[in-house]
Amino acid sequence: MLFFSFILLLCTLPLLALCAEDYYKLLGVERDASDRELRKSYRKLSKQYHPDKNPDNETAQERFVAIAEAYEALIEPETRKIYDQYGHDGLTKHKQGRGPGHAHDPFDLFSRFFGGSGHFGHHSGERRGPNMEVRLAVPLREFYNGGETTFTIEKDHVCEACEGSGSEDGEVDVCDVCGGRGMRIQKHMLAPGIFQQVQGTCDACGGKGKTVRHKCNVCGGARVAKEPESFTVHVERGMPKGARVSFENEADENPDWIAGDLIVQLVEKEPVLGPDGAEDEHIARTDGTFFRRKGKDLFWREVLSLREAWMGDWARNITHLDGHVVRLSRPRGAVIQPGSVEMVEGQGMPIWQSDAEGDPLAFGNLLVEYVVVLPDMMDEAMEGDFWATWEKWRAKVGVDLFKDSGRPVIVEASAHDEL
Ligand SMILES: [Zn+2]
Ligand SMILES: [Zn+2]
Repeated sequence: MLFFSFILLLCTLPLLALCAEDYYKLLGVERDASDRELRKSYRKLSKQYHPDKNPDNETAQERFVAIAEAYEALIEPETRKIYDQYGHDGLTKHKQGRGPGHAHDPFDLFSRFFGGSGHFGHHSGERRGPNMEVRLAVPLREFYNGGETTFTIEKDHVCEACEGSGSEDGEVDVCDVCGGRGMRIQKHMLAPGIFQQVQGTCDACGGKGKTVRHKCNVCGGARVAKEPESFTVHVERGMPKGARVSFENEADENPDWIAGDLIVQLVEKEPVLGPDGAEDEHIARTDGTFFRRKGKDLFWREVLSLREAWMGDWARNITHLDGHVVRLSRPRGAVIQPGSVEMVEGQGMPIWQSDAEGDPLAFGNLLVEYVVVLPDMMDEAMEGDFWATWEKWRAKVGVDLFKDSGRPVIVEASAHDEL
């Protein structure tokens, strides 16, 4: 019998855990978390699970409510103490003791953090703050390989100390100059007995309609304070230069509106030549620095000696942006014209989202331009040998430069010229 009740207990335990998840776990913080950590976690999670961002996801919506409940219980020292000692039951009893009417609205809490009415009203006609644009420089290597880049910006946050009221003691008065309208009508005398009425912003309250006697000493009454916040951008393979990634409702916050979007524009970072033996193998491998991108293609410049360009029999290994090697080579006797361009298929940039429909990722081409360097000086004996060789062959198999030039024939030119 005892055994069976034990089994029963085991079965009901997970159910219990589901009904009332631990507040600390819900917020993803340690039991000794500071108020600041609680706020930070609430900020992050409440945005993530907000019903407006998860319209058809009931689990997320329930989580949003649960997170608000957990935050409100833990941020209040009295209820936190009760929770720590007696858990959920203790809190339930405590709430009953205070009588009805203490149910908190999770959207109200959200609006105290982020301004506006607590909703991301795209259709409710709610005021939206301006969008914010930042440019983020990403190395070409990352556009090729994809990856995550984290950056930090300073942006306005609704002041936590005064919860956006601007007041130290939480008291906000209606402006007695304009009566809360934020506007006032002033009379100007144009001529004796002739007045003009002009409506202007109330200068006593700056158009807000409210005044605060004791200003919050954190934000100085501004109701918002600049704070750093980090974001992580996922750079997808082959994303175009100038691509925009937007973070919804992450621009400057203000109690009067719902924050606009933070828009991150990805630009290409100037390549940096890594020092030899740098710790990061990728940086040390400097080949990646010399690729240039144009759309889906990559460009590369390869230098050949006169002998290589003319006689062939050479090979080069280029380390690509992800570390794989592209081999360029010519057998003996293969001539390469200076300035000619070779196209290596499939060795360009990944084509953005070309794998979206389950296809393998497609790539652009690598265009290799050959530059031929002539020797500055020649050994005297070598010069002699070459001269003799030229003399021997130039009359027999020379190139007709005039014909090759494609110019119209005006006068008769000699049939042969230099090799
Ligand atoms: Zn006023
Ligand atoms: Zn403040």
